[in-house]
Amino acid sequence: WLKGLLAPPQECPQWAFFAHTLISEAALASPVVKPRARISSFLQTWSPSLKKLSPHLNRIIKTAKIYNIRWEAISINNDIARRLPVWFHIGASNNLNKLNNHSYATCLREKHAVTSVGQLENITARQSPLHRQNKACTCKHCDHDRTSFNCKKPFKCAKLANEILKCILPKWHPKTCTNGYSLIISPEQIPPENNPEEKTEFFDPTFPSPESLKDGFRAFVTSKQPCTSSAIQSPITPGDIPHLTTITITSSHRINRDRNYVSGGGAFFGQDDARNLSVNLPE
Ligand SMILES: [Zn+2]
Ligand SMILES: [Zn+2]
Ligand SMILES: [Zn+2]
Repeated sequence: WLKGLLAPPQECPQWAFFAHTLISEAALASPVVKPRARISSFLQTWSPSLKKLSPHLNRIIKTAKIYNIRWEAISINNDIARRLPVWFHIGASNNLNKLNNHSYATCLREKHAVTSVGQLENITARQSPLHRQNKACTCKHCDHDRTSFNCKKPFKCAKLANEILKCILPKWHPKTCTNGYSLIISPEQIPPENNPEEKTEFFDPTFPSPESLKDGFRAFVTSKQPCTSSAIQSPITPGDIPHLTTITITSSHRINRDRNYVSGGGAFFGQDDARNLSVNLPE
């Protein structure tokens, strides 16, 4: 049941669509979230009041709380960053709080029909040299906003959209979120397997972005503030050829007198290498 609810309303089964409506009607009084800004309590920073929900929905929401189910990812690609709801965004600075209910935010929601980060970003792309900071601006974007959306002050809406976008933290921002990064090794660098007892495993440092909003939910997420900077690979110095490091690891574990697991191990980089590590088994 919970699974069907986690997807944003436009991607979920019909029963969940009604459930989303009920949940949004049960929104807590604080923060003030205008009905149009309520997209999914699982993808935004507002919550429903448990008391106002039917016992069934109440149980579903409680389960999500008990297991600490949250949308979280180490890497977010820009397609996913654009699909996330922009109002009450889960990865924004506190400055967004006062902008969510700004009067031009109402115009952006009701007239321009903005729900996602991507839609808001499109409004900020007013690159025309003809664009002017006044309500009579005749650039094609402002003209379109006035005629198709009946917006009275397109330049104000575009300006607010810009400010809102600035509140989205780097990891979540479509311009600064993770670009593709990968482990690059050439086939010649793969050492031959000479001893069947010693299996070589490649350490892959990539954390792929979720492919859809549904894929981004995680259970047992720490209650600590998640990291908000984007995942990056340390830059390679020009002319520096990437080389392969082989690390031999050992580990052992046993059960002690108190029936607890105790473990130890080591990592061997090479003779007299400062990076060699060992973790001792406690006595
Ligand atoms: Zn304009
Ligand atoms: Zn437009
Ligand atoms: Zn407007």
